[in-house]
Amino acid sequence: MSKINANFATEIKEFGGVNFNACYNCGTCTAVCSLSTEENSFPREMIRYSILGIEDDIQSSLKPWLCYYCGECSESCPRQANPGELMMSLRRYLTSKYDWTGLAHKLYTSKVWEFGTIFFLAAVILVLFIFFHGPMTTELTSEGGVQLNTFAPWKMIEIGDWIMAGLLSFFLISNIFNMYLKIIRSNKNLKIPFKLYFTEFWKLIVHFASQWQFSKCDQLETKKKVNFSTYWIVHLLLMSSYSLMLIMIVVFLGWFQTDNIYEWWHPQRLLGYYATFGLTVGIIYFSIARFKKKQEKSKHSHITDWTFLVLLFLTTISGILVHFFRIYGLPFSTYYMYVFHLMVLFPMLMIEVPFSKWSHLAYRPIAIYFYNLIEAAKKSKKKT
Ligand code: SF4
Ligand code: SF4
Repeated sequence: MSKINANFATEIKEFGGVNFNACYNCGTCTAVCSLSTEENSFPREMIRYSILGIEDDIQSSLKPWLCYYCGECSESCPRQANPGELMMSLRRYLTSKYDWTGLAHKLYTSKVWEFGTIFFLAAVILVLFIFFHGPMTTELTSEGGVQLNTFAPWKMIEIGDWIMAGLLSFFLISNIFNMYLKIIRSNKNLKIPFKLYFTEFWKLIVHFASQWQFSKCDQLETKKKVNFSTYWIVHLLLMSSYSLMLIMIVVFLGWFQTDNIYEWWHPQRLLGYYATFGLTVGIIYFSIARFKKKQEKSKHSHITDWTFLVLLFLTTISGILVHFFRIYGLPFSTYYMYVFHLMVLFPMLMIEVPFSKWSHLAYRPIAIYFYNLIEAAKKSKKKT
Protein backbone atom coordinates (compact mmCIF):
# COMPACT_ATOMS: atom_id res chain seq x y z
CA MET A 1 0.00 0.00 0.00
CA SER A 2 1.40 3.42 -0.98
CA LYS A 3 2.18 5.94 1.74
CA ILE A 4 0.35 9.27 1.63
CA ASN A 5 2.19 12.51 2.40
CA ALA A 6 -0.48 15.04 3.33
CA ASN A 7 2.04 17.91 2.96
CA PHE A 8 3.21 16.92 -0.50
CA ALA A 9 1.32 19.68 -2.33
CA THR A 10 2.96 22.29 -0.08
CA GLU A 11 6.40 20.71 -0.43
CA ILE A 12 6.27 20.54 -4.22
CA LYS A 13 5.62 24.29 -4.35
CA GLU A 14 9.18 24.80 -3.06
CA PHE A 15 10.35 22.98 -6.19
CA GLY A 16 8.33 25.29 -8.44
CA GLY A 17 4.90 23.63 -8.71
CA VAL A 18 2.27 26.33 -9.18
CA ASN A 19 -1.51 26.09 -9.03
CA PHE A 20 -1.77 22.37 -9.86
CA ASN A 21 -4.38 22.01 -7.07
CA ALA A 22 -6.77 23.85 -9.40
CA CYS A 23 -7.00 20.74 -11.59
CA TYR A 24 -10.55 19.35 -11.87
CA ASN A 25 -9.50 16.25 -13.75
CA CYS A 26 -11.08 17.12 -17.12
CA GLY A 27 -8.46 15.19 -19.10
CA THR A 28 -7.75 17.86 -21.72
CA CYS A 29 -4.03 17.79 -20.95
CA THR A 30 -3.92 14.02 -21.47
CA ALA A 31 -5.75 14.37 -24.76
CA VAL A 32 -3.24 16.91 -26.14
CA CYS A 33 -0.04 15.36 -24.79
CA SER A 34 1.72 13.51 -27.59
CA LEU A 35 3.24 11.09 -25.07
CA SER A 36 -0.15 9.79 -23.89
CA THR A 37 -1.18 6.29 -24.90
CA GLU A 38 -4.02 3.99 -23.84
CA GLU A 39 -1.95 2.59 -20.98
CA ASN A 40 -0.05 5.77 -20.11
CA SER A 41 -1.76 8.99 -19.14
CA PHE A 42 0.46 12.09 -19.38
CA PRO A 43 0.46 14.30 -17.32
CA ARG A 44 -2.84 13.70 -15.48
CA GLU A 45 -1.65 10.70 -13.48
CA MET A 46 1.20 12.74 -11.98
CA ILE A 47 -1.22 15.57 -11.16
CA ARG A 48 -3.52 13.17 -9.29
CA TYR A 49 -0.61 11.61 -7.39
CA SER A 50 0.71 15.07 -6.49
CA ILE A 51 -2.66 16.32 -5.24
CA LEU A 52 -3.15 13.13 -3.21
CA GLY A 53 0.49 13.06 -2.02
CA ILE A 54 1.24 9.50 -3.21
CA GLU A 55 4.99 10.00 -2.99
CA ASP A 56 6.13 6.40 -3.53
CA ASP A 57 4.38 6.18 -6.88
CA ILE A 58 5.86 9.49 -7.99
CA GLN A 59 9.35 8.43 -6.93
CA SER A 60 9.11 5.15 -8.83
CA SER A 61 7.72 6.83 -11.96
CA LEU A 62 9.65 7.67 -15.11
CA LYS A 63 6.98 9.96 -16.48
CA PRO A 64 8.37 13.29 -15.28
CA TRP A 65 11.61 12.48 -17.13
CA LEU A 66 9.90 11.46 -20.36
CA CYS A 67 8.17 14.86 -20.55
CA TYR A 68 10.21 17.45 -22.46
CA TYR A 69 8.09 20.41 -21.40
CA CYS A 70 6.61 21.40 -24.74
CA GLY A 71 3.91 23.19 -22.72
CA GLU A 72 0.94 21.96 -24.77
CA CYS A 73 -0.84 20.65 -21.67
CA SER A 74 -0.45 23.98 -19.82
CA GLU A 75 -1.68 25.96 -22.81
CA SER A 76 -4.76 23.77 -23.13
CA CYS A 77 -5.67 23.58 -19.45
CA PRO A 78 -9.00 25.36 -18.78
CA ARG A 79 -8.07 25.83 -15.09
CA GLN A 80 -4.54 27.25 -15.57
CA ALA A 81 -3.28 24.41 -13.40
CA ASN A 82 0.12 24.47 -15.19
CA PRO A 83 0.57 20.71 -15.57
CA GLY A 84 3.77 21.23 -17.61
CA GLU A 85 5.31 23.22 -14.77
CA LEU A 86 4.26 20.52 -12.32
CA MET A 87 6.18 17.96 -14.40
CA MET A 88 9.20 20.29 -14.30
CA SER A 89 8.96 20.68 -10.51
CA LEU A 90 8.61 16.90 -10.14
CA ARG A 91 11.90 16.53 -12.00
CA ARG A 92 13.53 18.84 -9.45
CA TYR A 93 11.82 16.94 -6.64
CA LEU A 94 13.02 13.57 -8.01
CA THR A 95 16.56 14.91 -8.36
CA SER A 96 16.45 15.73 -4.65
CA LYS A 97 15.07 12.26 -3.82
CA TYR A 98 17.72 10.37 -5.81
CA ASP A 99 20.43 12.33 -4.00
CA TRP A 100 21.30 10.43 -0.81
CA THR A 101 23.37 13.32 0.62
CA GLY A 102 20.31 15.56 1.01
CA LEU A 103 22.26 18.45 -0.53
CA ALA A 104 20.10 18.62 -3.68
CA HIS A 105 17.01 19.10 -1.50
CA LYS A 106 18.70 21.93 0.41
CA LEU A 107 19.97 23.61 -2.76
CA TYR A 108 16.52 23.49 -4.37
CA THR A 109 14.56 24.68 -1.35
CA SER A 110 16.85 27.16 0.42
CA LYS A 111 18.45 30.28 -1.06
CA VAL A 112 20.79 30.41 1.93
CA TRP A 113 22.12 26.94 1.06
CA GLU A 114 22.26 27.71 -2.67
CA PHE A 115 24.23 30.96 -2.37
CA GLY A 116 26.11 29.87 0.77
CA THR A 117 27.45 26.78 -1.07
CA ILE A 118 28.46 28.84 -4.11
CA PHE A 119 30.36 31.38 -1.97
CA PHE A 120 31.94 28.65 0.16
CA LEU A 121 33.27 26.75 -2.87
CA ALA A 122 34.47 29.99 -4.48
CA ALA A 123 36.28 30.87 -1.23
CA VAL A 124 37.99 27.44 -1.24
CA ILE A 125 39.46 28.20 -4.69
CA LEU A 126 40.54 31.69 -3.62
CA VAL A 127 42.31 30.38 -0.51
CA LEU A 128 44.05 27.64 -2.53
CA PHE A 129 45.34 30.26 -4.98
CA ILE A 130 46.46 32.60 -2.19
CA PHE A 131 48.63 29.85 -0.70
CA PHE A 132 49.71 27.82 -3.70
CA HIS A 133 49.92 30.08 -6.76
CA GLY A 134 53.18 30.29 -8.70
CA PRO A 135 55.09 33.50 -9.43
CA MET A 136 53.40 36.34 -11.28
CA THR A 137 55.64 37.51 -14.04
CA THR A 138 55.39 40.43 -16.43
CA GLU A 139 57.84 38.74 -18.78
CA LEU A 140 55.98 37.66 -21.90
CA THR A 141 56.51 34.57 -24.07
CA SER A 142 58.37 34.87 -27.40
CA GLU A 143 54.93 35.18 -29.08
CA GLY A 144 53.97 38.09 -26.82
CA GLY A 145 51.56 36.11 -24.64
CA VAL A 146 51.27 35.81 -20.86
CA GLN A 147 53.00 32.96 -19.03
CA LEU A 148 49.87 31.56 -17.41
CA ASN A 149 51.47 28.24 -16.50
CA THR A 150 54.07 30.00 -14.37
CA PHE A 151 51.29 31.36 -12.15
CA ALA A 152 48.97 28.32 -12.38
CA PRO A 153 50.93 25.25 -13.59
CA TRP A 154 48.57 23.02 -15.54
CA LYS A 155 49.84 19.93 -13.72
CA MET A 156 48.75 21.43 -10.40
CA ILE A 157 45.37 22.49 -11.82
CA GLU A 158 44.97 19.06 -13.38
CA ILE A 159 45.29 17.36 -9.98
CA GLY A 160 42.47 19.58 -8.73
CA ASP A 161 40.44 18.78 -11.86
CA TRP A 162 40.78 15.04 -11.34
CA ILE A 163 39.79 15.32 -7.67
CA MET A 164 36.76 17.36 -8.73
CA ALA A 165 35.88 14.92 -11.55
CA GLY A 166 36.17 12.00 -9.11
CA LEU A 167 33.79 13.70 -6.67
CA LEU A 168 31.33 14.63 -9.43
CA SER A 169 31.32 11.09 -10.81
CA PHE A 170 30.96 9.54 -7.36
CA PHE A 171 27.94 11.68 -6.44
CA LEU A 172 26.28 11.44 -9.85
CA ILE A 173 26.77 7.68 -10.26
CA SER A 174 25.63 6.91 -6.70
CA ASN A 175 22.54 9.08 -7.25
CA ILE A 176 21.82 7.25 -10.53
CA PHE A 177 22.12 3.98 -8.64
CA ASN A 178 19.57 5.30 -6.14
CA MET A 179 17.30 6.14 -9.09
CA TYR A 180 17.72 2.55 -10.31
CA LEU A 181 16.72 1.19 -6.89
CA LYS A 182 13.62 3.38 -6.74
CA ILE A 183 12.45 2.63 -10.28
CA ILE A 184 13.60 -0.84 -11.24
CA ARG A 185 14.39 -2.70 -8.03
CA SER A 186 11.37 -1.42 -6.11
CA ASN A 187 9.07 -3.03 -8.70
CA LYS A 188 8.72 -6.58 -7.39
CA ASN A 189 6.55 -7.69 -10.34
CA LEU A 190 9.22 -6.71 -12.85
CA LYS A 191 11.93 -9.16 -13.91
CA ILE A 192 14.41 -7.74 -16.40
CA PRO A 193 16.45 -10.37 -18.29
CA PHE A 194 20.14 -9.57 -17.77
CA LYS A 195 20.99 -9.37 -21.49
CA LEU A 196 18.47 -6.53 -21.98
CA TYR A 197 20.71 -4.22 -19.93
CA PHE A 198 23.23 -4.51 -22.76
CA THR A 199 20.96 -4.70 -25.80
CA GLU A 200 19.10 -1.52 -24.77
CA PHE A 201 22.27 0.36 -23.84
CA TRP A 202 22.91 1.87 -27.27
CA LYS A 203 19.65 3.83 -26.99
CA LEU A 204 21.01 5.50 -23.87
CA ILE A 205 24.01 6.76 -25.85
CA VAL A 206 21.78 7.94 -28.73
CA HIS A 207 19.44 9.83 -26.39
CA PHE A 208 22.27 11.45 -24.45
CA ALA A 209 24.00 12.60 -27.63
CA SER A 210 20.87 13.73 -29.49
CA GLN A 211 18.33 14.71 -26.79
CA TRP A 212 15.91 13.29 -29.36
CA GLN A 213 12.89 13.16 -27.05
CA PHE A 214 12.33 16.87 -27.79
CA SER A 215 10.96 15.99 -31.21
CA LYS A 216 7.91 14.23 -29.70
CA CYS A 217 6.42 17.40 -28.35
CA ASP A 218 6.21 19.83 -31.18
CA GLN A 219 2.72 20.06 -32.65
CA LEU A 220 1.22 23.01 -30.80
CA GLU A 221 4.47 24.96 -30.65
CA THR A 222 4.82 24.66 -34.41
CA LYS A 223 1.25 25.79 -34.98
CA LYS A 224 1.97 28.92 -32.95
CA LYS A 225 5.07 29.55 -35.04
CA VAL A 226 7.43 29.02 -32.14
CA ASN A 227 10.15 27.09 -33.84
CA PHE A 228 10.60 24.10 -31.61
CA SER A 229 13.56 22.74 -33.56
CA THR A 230 15.43 25.96 -32.69
CA TYR A 231 14.98 25.09 -29.05
CA TRP A 232 16.27 21.58 -29.65
CA ILE A 233 19.30 22.81 -31.62
CA VAL A 234 20.22 25.45 -29.02
CA HIS A 235 19.79 22.92 -26.21
CA LEU A 236 22.01 20.46 -28.07
CA LEU A 237 24.58 23.19 -28.77
CA LEU A 238 24.65 24.19 -25.10
CA MET A 239 24.85 20.61 -23.88
CA SER A 240 27.63 19.64 -26.32
CA SER A 241 29.63 22.81 -25.54
CA TYR A 242 29.31 22.26 -21.81
CA SER A 243 30.37 18.60 -22.12
CA LEU A 244 33.24 19.50 -24.49
CA MET A 245 34.53 22.13 -22.06
CA LEU A 246 34.35 19.63 -19.19
CA ILE A 247 36.32 17.04 -21.19
CA MET A 248 38.95 19.60 -22.27
CA ILE A 249 39.62 20.87 -18.75
CA VAL A 250 39.62 17.45 -17.09
CA VAL A 251 41.16 15.12 -19.69
CA PHE A 252 43.17 17.38 -22.00
CA LEU A 253 44.19 20.28 -19.76
CA GLY A 254 47.88 20.00 -20.66
CA TRP A 255 46.94 20.50 -24.32
CA PHE A 256 44.25 23.13 -23.64
CA GLN A 257 45.98 25.34 -21.07
CA THR A 258 49.18 26.11 -22.88
CA ASP A 259 51.33 29.24 -23.02
CA ASN A 260 51.77 28.80 -26.78
CA ILE A 261 49.63 30.99 -28.98
CA TYR A 262 48.43 28.87 -31.87
CA GLU A 263 46.99 30.07 -35.18
CA TRP A 264 43.21 30.60 -35.14
CA TRP A 265 42.62 27.42 -37.17
CA HIS A 266 44.49 25.16 -34.71
CA PRO A 267 42.16 22.45 -33.27
CA GLN A 268 42.82 23.69 -29.72
CA ARG A 269 41.48 27.14 -30.60
CA LEU A 270 38.68 25.86 -32.84
CA LEU A 271 37.34 23.54 -30.12
CA GLY A 272 37.59 26.36 -27.59
CA TYR A 273 35.71 28.71 -29.94
CA TYR A 274 33.02 26.08 -30.58
CA ALA A 275 32.46 25.61 -26.85
CA THR A 276 32.45 29.38 -26.25
CA PHE A 277 30.05 29.95 -29.14
CA GLY A 278 27.68 27.19 -27.98
CA LEU A 279 27.68 28.43 -24.38
CA THR A 280 27.15 32.06 -25.42
CA VAL A 281 24.29 31.27 -27.81
CA GLY A 282 22.66 29.01 -25.22
CA ILE A 283 22.94 31.57 -22.40
CA ILE A 284 21.54 34.39 -24.55
CA TYR A 285 18.72 32.26 -25.97
CA PHE A 286 17.55 30.81 -22.65
CA SER A 287 17.93 34.11 -20.77
CA ILE A 288 15.84 35.98 -23.36
CA ALA A 289 13.23 33.21 -23.28
CA ARG A 290 13.00 33.45 -19.48
CA PHE A 291 12.77 37.26 -19.57
CA LYS A 292 10.14 37.30 -22.34
CA LYS A 293 8.08 34.41 -20.86
CA LYS A 294 6.44 33.74 -24.23
CA GLN A 295 6.98 30.00 -24.37
CA GLU A 296 5.15 27.93 -21.75
CA LYS A 297 8.37 26.29 -20.61
CA SER A 298 9.97 29.68 -19.86
CA LYS A 299 7.06 31.31 -18.05
CA HIS A 300 7.93 30.03 -14.59
CA SER A 301 11.55 30.23 -13.46
CA HIS A 302 12.79 28.60 -10.30
CA ILE A 303 15.65 30.46 -8.59
CA THR A 304 17.99 27.59 -9.53
CA ASP A 305 17.25 28.15 -13.25
CA TRP A 306 18.64 31.67 -12.95
CA THR A 307 21.56 30.62 -10.75
CA PHE A 308 22.63 28.14 -13.41
CA LEU A 309 22.42 30.71 -16.20
CA VAL A 310 24.30 33.36 -14.19
CA LEU A 311 27.09 30.95 -13.19
CA LEU A 312 27.37 29.74 -16.78
CA PHE A 313 27.49 33.33 -18.04
CA LEU A 314 30.21 34.35 -15.55
CA THR A 315 32.23 31.22 -16.36
CA THR A 316 31.99 31.85 -20.10
CA ILE A 317 32.72 35.57 -20.03
CA SER A 318 35.66 35.16 -17.62
CA GLY A 319 37.02 32.33 -19.82
CA ILE A 320 36.81 34.58 -22.90
CA LEU A 321 38.58 37.40 -21.03
CA VAL A 322 41.37 35.09 -19.82
CA HIS A 323 41.91 34.03 -23.44
CA PHE A 324 42.14 37.60 -24.76
CA PHE A 325 44.16 38.97 -21.83
CA ARG A 326 46.62 36.11 -22.31
CA ILE A 327 47.13 36.43 -26.06
CA TYR A 328 47.31 40.26 -25.89
CA GLY A 329 49.99 40.11 -23.19
CA LEU A 330 48.23 41.52 -20.08
CA PRO A 331 49.75 39.49 -17.22
CA PHE A 332 47.92 40.75 -14.10
CA SER A 333 44.56 40.91 -15.82
CA THR A 334 45.11 37.32 -16.99
CA TYR A 335 46.10 36.05 -13.54
CA TYR A 336 43.26 37.73 -11.62
CA MET A 337 40.68 36.81 -14.22
CA TYR A 338 41.91 33.20 -14.23
CA VAL A 339 41.39 32.98 -10.45
CA PHE A 340 37.91 34.50 -10.82
CA HIS A 341 37.16 32.06 -13.67
CA LEU A 342 37.95 29.07 -11.46
CA MET A 343 36.05 30.61 -8.52
CA VAL A 344 32.90 30.51 -10.67
CA LEU A 345 33.63 27.34 -12.63
CA PHE A 346 34.27 25.15 -9.58
CA PRO A 347 30.97 25.87 -7.72
CA MET A 348 29.05 25.68 -10.99
CA LEU A 349 30.31 22.17 -11.75
CA MET A 350 30.16 20.91 -8.16
CA ILE A 351 26.58 22.10 -7.67
CA GLU A 352 25.03 21.73 -11.08
CA VAL A 353 26.40 18.38 -12.27
CA PRO A 354 25.38 16.02 -9.47
CA PHE A 355 22.79 18.02 -7.50
CA SER A 356 20.97 20.50 -9.66
CA LYS A 357 20.10 21.65 -13.18
CA TRP A 358 22.77 19.81 -15.16
CA SER A 359 21.96 16.44 -13.59
CA HIS A 360 18.80 16.23 -15.73
CA LEU A 361 21.07 15.73 -18.75
CA ALA A 362 22.10 12.47 -17.13
CA TYR A 363 18.78 11.48 -15.53
CA ARG A 364 16.65 11.93 -18.64
CA PRO A 365 18.59 9.55 -20.96
CA ILE A 366 18.89 7.09 -18.06
CA ALA A 367 15.11 7.31 -17.56
CA ILE A 368 14.56 6.61 -21.26
CA TYR A 369 16.94 3.67 -20.93
CA PHE A 370 14.96 2.32 -17.96
CA TYR A 371 11.71 2.86 -19.85
CA ASN A 372 13.02 0.88 -22.84
CA LEU A 373 14.26 -1.85 -20.49
CA ILE A 374 10.85 -2.15 -18.86
CA GLU A 375 9.04 -2.21 -22.20
CA ALA A 376 11.47 -4.80 -23.63
CA ALA A 377 11.07 -6.93 -20.48
CA LYS A 378 7.26 -6.82 -20.83
CA LYS A 379 7.52 -7.88 -24.50
CA SER A 380 9.87 -10.77 -23.73
CA LYS A 381 7.51 -11.88 -20.91
CA LYS A 382 4.56 -11.93 -23.34
CA LYS A 383 6.53 -14.08 -25.80
CA THR A 384 7.37 -16.72 -23.15
S1 SF4 B 1 -6.33 20.06 -18.41
FE1 SF4 B 1 -6.01 21.10 -16.46
S2 SF4 B 1 -7.87 20.73 -15.30
FE2 SF4 B 1 -7.91 19.29 -17.00
S3 SF4 B 1 -6.95 17.41 -16.14
FE3 SF4 B 1 -5.31 18.59 -17.08
S4 SF4 B 1 -4.49 19.85 -15.42
FE4 SF4 B 1 -6.46 19.10 -14.76
S1 SF4 C 1 4.74 19.43 -21.29
FE1 SF4 C 1 4.31 18.34 -23.24
S2 SF4 C 1 5.23 16.31 -22.94
FE2 SF4 C 1 5.09 17.26 -20.94
S3 SF4 C 1 3.20 16.47 -20.10
FE3 SF4 C 1 2.74 18.45 -21.06
S4 SF4 C 1 2.09 18.00 -23.14
FE4 SF4 C 1 3.09 16.16 -22.32
